[in-house]
Amino acid sequence: MPRTNSATPTGGIEQRIGLFGGTFDPVHNGHLIIAETIRDRCKLDKIFFIPANIHPLKDNHTIQSARHRLKMLRLAVAKNTGFAVSAFELNRPEVSYSIDTVRHFRSQFPPPSHALFFLLGADNVNQFHLWKSPDALVQLCRFIAFRRPGFQLASEAQRYISHFDFVDAPLLEISATTIREQVKQGFSIRYLVPAAVEKYIYANALYTS
Ligand code: ATP
Repeated sequence: MPRTNSATPTGGIEQRIGLFGGTFDPVHNGHLIIAETIRDRCKLDKIFFIPANIHPLKDNHTIQSARHRLKMLRLAVAKNTGFAVSAFELNRPEVSYSIDTVRHFRSQFPPPSHALFFLLGADNVNQFHLWKSPDALVQLCRFIAFRRPGFQLASEAQRYISHFDFVDAPLLEISATTIREQVKQGFSIRYLVPAAVEKYIYANALYTS
């Protein structure tokens, strides 16, 4: 059987690694459910959650925010051996491009025994040609796009489409923005985030102002 990196598993590759970037401010059950569905459906061995640097200036708020986002992610994934957290982007002084992050993971998980899969919402597929170094990126990893309701593929996206696998996954109407807003207004966020994350948010008085 020919070796392939497609989202459906084949022989030859020992480890299938997923990369899931985002702001995760905070991580919520929508993120976890989508990641678990893709991990299972695409037979990934491990998915790394990679929180992004929000702002290039290291002011106090940004550093605090990064530390909290990282801690909440670690709490959220602690009981899932198929999940891990990478501080690669947070440890860099500047905002990372996906190509930098994927190159880093490629050096950590080299071919041919590792295959890399980059997770993204299907709506990002239509902007993919505008990303930095798309031609280099598709040589380094495959892309798994989770479909969001109403998604339509734009004609500009056709050029790279052979590098994408599309997964229909349950999409919960949860966003980090809603959670921050609910905390601010004193509304419950129970069941929207893992219990440990909920506890952390209140213990550290996050999102109150
Ligand atoms: P914000 O509301 O602050 O913009 P967010 O909840 O969209 O945040 P991000 O950290 O920006 O979270 O998301 C990281 C990735 O997770 C993105 O690819 C985004 O499309 C996806 N995502 C976010 N919320 C959901 C959800 N409820 N279901 C599926 N995917 C989601």
